[in-house]
Amino acid sequence: LDKDDSVLRTAGLEKSFGSLVAVDDVSLAVERGSITGMIGPNGAGKSTLFNLISGFYDRDAGQVTVNVVDVSGNPPHEVARAGLVRTFQIPRRVDGMTVREAMLVGPRPQTGESILPLFLTPETVATEERENLARANALLERFEIAHLIDQPATDLSGGQLKLVELARGITTDPDILLLDEPVAGVNPTLAAEIKRFIRELNEEGQTFLIIEHDMPFIMDLADPIVVLDQGRVLMEGTPEEVRSDERVIDAYLGG
Ligand code: ADP
Ligand code: MG
Repeated sequence: LDKDDSVLRTAGLEKSFGSLVAVDDVSLAVERGSITGMIGPNGAGKSTLFNLISGFYDRDAGQVTVNVVDVSGNPPHEVARAGLVRTFQIPRRVDGMTVREAMLVGPRPQTGESILPLFLTPETVATEERENLARANALLERFEIAHLIDQPATDLSGGQLKLVELARGITTDPDILLLDEPVAGVNPTLAAEIKRFIRELNEEGQTFLIIEHDMPFIMDLADPIVVLDQGRVLMEGTPEEVRSDERVIDAYLGG
């Protein structure tokens, strides 16, 4: 944990569901400016860890620090205000929304619920919101899906929804963006584009922590990589170190 400049730190994070210890004493740090990967077998606790870090689940024990601010136990919108925003493995419900509306849900309080009425009340459409909208539009242009902005969000492919989710996360200009399986179920062409966008955004200074099951994708994109197994950090290292580590191979083969 002796990283020079960490945007995110966890210390002794724990979460159980009944007798199952899903996240077990996890301490890690994400260096500012990095693309840090997180891998691990199914059920290793990756998504639960994201939920703890981003305030969607309450922890049993441990601490979460964002930009040196202790956000342990804080609700998602306060964690977001401290600079940490996350996307979801399965895009949230967008039924009945246009792409534009889907983009506007959640830039601020990430409650998982629509804040659209609040968002669109004239008095509350302050400078910040107008800037967010402009930034959202610019990102959709950049991701080459701006022409879809007035279409029903349900008309989009899974991959396009992943792009909307990424754009929505970036819109608020977070200090660190957590992506949960950004290319799961996405076709190879679009996955390559998503990789390119993530890399470009990182070159512009965006820090990422990314869970991904697609090994070639994450090995090519992230450094360092944290390996989670049975709720614990098994190891952290370069893609090369992770690839050649017996414990990692055992964790995947052992199931
Ligand atoms: P991963 O994302 O690494 O595949 P998860 O964090 O989703 O793993 O799950 C870790 C473990 O915690 C699994 O055994 C899963 O079944 C369990 N789990 C996750 N969320 C819940 C929940 N809300 N209630 C009960 N058990 C859960
Ligand atoms: Mg998961």
